[in-house]
Amino acid sequence: MNWENNVRRVVPYQAGEQPQSGKVIKLNTNECPYPPSPRVEAVLHQFDYDVLRKYPDPDVSALTGALAKRHGLSREQVFVGVGSDDVLAMAFLTFFNSGKPILFPDITYSFYDVWADLYRIPYKCQPLDKDFLLVKEDYLKENGGIVIANPNAPTGIMTDVSDLEEIIRANPGSVVIIDEAYVDFGGESCVPLIQKYDNLLVVQTFSKSRAMAGMRIGYAMGSRRLIRYLQDVKFSFNSYTMNATAIAAGVASVEDEEYFREITDKVIATREYTKEALQKLGFTVTDSRTNFVFAAHRSIPAKKIFEALRAQEIYVRYWEKPRIDNYMRISIGTRREMDETIRFLESRLGELEREQS
Ligand code: PMP
Repeated sequence: MNWENNVRRVVPYQAGEQPQSGKVIKLNTNECPYPPSPRVEAVLHQFDYDVLRKYPDPDVSALTGALAKRHGLSREQVFVGVGSDDVLAMAFLTFFNSGKPILFPDITYSFYDVWADLYRIPYKCQPLDKDFLLVKEDYLKENGGIVIANPNAPTGIMTDVSDLEEIIRANPGSVVIIDEAYVDFGGESCVPLIQKYDNLLVVQTFSKSRAMAGMRIGYAMGSRRLIRYLQDVKFSFNSYTMNATAIAAGVASVEDEEYFREITDKVIATREYTKEALQKLGFTVTDSRTNFVFAAHRSIPAKKIFEALRAQEIYVRYWEKPRIDNYMRISIGTRREMDETIRFLESRLGELEREQS
């Protein structure tokens, strides 16, 4: 007899490093380099501490209401959670119960297979093509559900909404989750399709385009029925996922559309600038529509460059995984941070290249 035989053993998701020293250039977890909206700061400053005595609103009405208004939906079509990771995990638990394998690309957000394993959901990865493009036909066969990040991570590449619509339409027996964590940086959203397809769940986050990764707010949008099933599972798990400060700060952020546009536009401009600078240094970069670039050098292995950057306290993300082990994912920081990174690469690449030959 050994209790360890009965443990739910899992291999956890590995998030990017969170170095605690303030000096580093941190381009490894796709955070926003700018602060949240000044309205968020104001709300937190004026926050009535007495509110903390009570449990928060289990329906999170203020925040679902603000999000519904912003996206042209009704409040019953919005579900919020503790970051989109929480929302996605809850959606896997709620919707992927057929026993048939769920489908997602071989190169994508590396939490999908972790949740599938955690909940014992069978899955089959569908290979992206040689240019990392989604192969639509792979999602037109029998399945227990589909999850697609659009734009994809870590490639940054967007799939046309018309292709996604075909996948959603062809799968009335499955829930299709579109993870739009990065859609605000120039992607096209599937939200307008929600009124047409009751099997579509679109997930977004405050962590990237709203500069609030530390606040942990994510949300899902879908048909009322889909959202009701998600709520049922949530209320069978933890009624009070959203704390009172997160709710207040979230509403303040959603209400400041102007600031949201300002910072996302700045990130997009810096991304395009960074792409061009990297190309001049001998990198190929994908057509990223996100707040990061995915880059491979023509002759120097990514791992070498990654290590050289890290030694300089410039943190980017690198995976020693098939097909992508020659790429680095570099989050878009401020213009100054990107200039510093590019200058460092300029100064070191020659030496690294000579070591190669
Ligand atoms: N989806 C994708 C594709 C991501 O890259 C991330 C960020 N790691 C998330 C979801 C989760 O983000 P959060 O939980 O901060 O909303």
